[in-house]
Amino acid sequence: MPQRSLVDQVILILIDDVRAFHLFDLVGKGKLPNIAQIAEKGVSSQNCITSYPSITYPCYTNVVIGSYSGYYPIEGSGIPMYHWVGRTDPPSEGKKFPIIRNGGKGSHILKFNSDLGPNCQTIFEQAGKGNFLSSLNLFNRGSVLIPPIEYTTQSILKGVEEIYKDPKKIFSNKEVPKVTVAYIPKTDDLMHHKGFDHPEYIAELIKCDKAIGSLIETLKNTGYFESTAIGIISDHGNYKAENVYDIGPYFEEKGLKQYLPRKGTGDFDVSMGSVGFFNFRGKDWFHHPTFNQLEEFVTSSPGSKKLNLFETLWKIPGVKLMYYRDDNNTPDKGVIYLEHRDEKTGKKLKDIIEYEGHGINQKTRYLPETEDFYKYSEHEESACFLDNRFHTIDEWLKATNQIDFPIIVDQVPRYFKNPRSCDIITSTLGEYFFGYEHGKTLSSDPYSHDVGLKKSMTVPFIIGGSPNIPKLKLFYCKTTDMVPSLLSLLGEKPHYSVVGKSVFD
Ligand SMILES: [Zn+2]
Repeated sequence: MPQRSLVDQVILILIDDVRAFHLFDLVGKGKLPNIAQIAEKGVSSQNCITSYPSITYPCYTNVVIGSYSGYYPIEGSGIPMYHWVGRTDPPSEGKKFPIIRNGGKGSHILKFNSDLGPNCQTIFEQAGKGNFLSSLNLFNRGSVLIPPIEYTTQSILKGVEEIYKDPKKIFSNKEVPKVTVAYIPKTDDLMHHKGFDHPEYIAELIKCDKAIGSLIETLKNTGYFESTAIGIISDHGNYKAENVYDIGPYFEEKGLKQYLPRKGTGDFDVSMGSVGFFNFRGKDWFHHPTFNQLEEFVTSSPGSKKLNLFETLWKIPGVKLMYYRDDNNTPDKGVIYLEHRDEKTGKKLKDIIEYEGHGINQKTRYLPETEDFYKYSEHEESACFLDNRFHTIDEWLKATNQIDFPIIVDQVPRYFKNPRSCDIITSTLGEYFFGYEHGKTLSSDPYSHDVGLKKSMTVPFIIGGSPNIPKLKLFYCKTTDMVPSLLSLLGEKPHYSVVGKSVFD
């Protein structure tokens, strides 16, 4: 039996790089009247937790599929990160050496829909029969993509309006799209180069609100407003780093050479904001290195001595933690190590994150060596989850949504299970920013996002529009709840890969 539907159409607007606190602060000041109205009359949460790492791809990817990375060949999304090395075991046929995917390159972005793989589905692929529309949305598998006339926030939303006015422009059955996803990238650009507190960034959010107001007008004029849900979300929040540092010379001094996928040469590939994602050569570039290989790494520089890479990376300025996987991990069961230092003695400590199961059935537990790095023990809600028992993502969400490192015990294994993930993650927690990618320091702007701190992990979550949508204030939710919630409004069931759950359940 099909579920009852409350609306016939949904429009999801993803505004890149908006911290929940900043958006609702502007709402409170009356600067975003249209978004305020949608939120007031429908569902809203000022505490929606995104994925870790808090970086555009994967966070944006995960919103559109309602799921996370995972053991990619079997389940989850094939996009674990903005930058990844395409490692597979056994090595993929026909490829001489693994590729490097760079989410900053236009030609690479065109590969995103195939990178996703067959084990997860976009909201379009999950929504049954109908017309599906993407306005600049990069994860558009299953929909018709319209490019904006200009790459402005207004133009991207105007494109959606035009199709509602005249659907036969692109849909021969003349029906308006059942699901629309519009992606607004300009806010992210302004956040990195100017900052979240800059007038131009705030002005862009106000432009976005005006464009949403215009879209609502069109929906009313064309008679679709009552039957359309509008979802508003962001992929991640942000932070301002205390220091910016050029790390390139340090890697050169250590003799570490950039991996070149055309030649198969080199020692490492890394992308570093405040969080560093390090890939090193294993027995070859198709294989991840073992723990021993990382401890006794031989660089390709002539006459090089063995490097202990853990010690090498601990000398990077501001490093506060390091994650790496155990050699014996399987997709169903495994251990991720969290190395950090005792605040008083400086002694190195090794905490353990253990996982079992996958997808919606993944459970994890956190076993600190002494005092827990995440300081979960200091908060009543989270302290009782340091109980040696395994917990689901929604249990972690309930326990940690108010504090730094929300749901991180669940998220780190989901990242590391993917063979396309890196070997070692480092983080300075926003103290130092490096702007280093694939052998070059590219950016010196201190504004960024990637860390597990609350300010980078919390986004707005709003669903409104149609008066059929119940009025609901959620104390917390997660970004992967958006797709199953919108599908529930449409009376459709999510794909089995979806980890989020409908907020209407
Ligand atoms: Zn982003």
